[in-house]
Amino acid sequence: MTFEEQSITSIISALKFSADKHRNQRRKDSMASPYINHPIEVAEILWNIGKVRDVNTIVAAILHDTVEDTETSPEEVKALFGKEIKDLVMEVTDDKSLPKQERKQLQIEHAPHKSISAKQIKISDKICNVTDITNHPPDNWTLQRKIDYLHWAEKVVEGLRGSNQDLETMFDEALKKGQDKYQAESIHNGSSETL
Ligand code: ZN
Repeated sequence: MTFEEQSITSIISALKFSADKHRNQRRKDSMASPYINHPIEVAEILWNIGKVRDVNTIVAAILHDTVEDTETSPEEVKALFGKEIKDLVMEVTDDKSLPKQERKQLQIEHAPHKSISAKQIKISDKICNVTDITNHPPDNWTLQRKIDYLHWAEKVVEGLRGSNQDLETMFDEALKKGQDKYQAESIHNGSSETL
């Protein structure tokens, strides 16, 4: 196989694997979109906006939530996609045995120490999540929870900067859109919530 054929083969395998693993999940957004839309979007942003041409990064992006959110073991990813992609997926996987608040704090602390590929995947992931929270927030989220989420995402991305200017600019725009929306809601409500 040529390099190009190999690349397309692993991208198709990753799409199939990820779609299968996430088949019973929906996103938390108000439309409950099929979960697989999310990793596809993360990969699309890396490719189209970030101009990332490293195939392992694109494949790992498609797989990025399988170990964290489905019954997928790191060994399974390694057997099918190789050690390099398994390592990348694990770099962007939270330790689910820890309490949620601690996991969120660790994302902020660990961000600056990630590889460039992992940083790019994480920024792209945060672009998607911030955009979802802005455009289609989960029905049961309070205004404060949405504001807190944006603030946390901003802090994580602080530690990921220097890895891809175009992704960082897109994140900044997505964040500002969310902040403007929820700041306006907060003023409208006359509440004390702050960004
Ligand atoms: Zn994700």
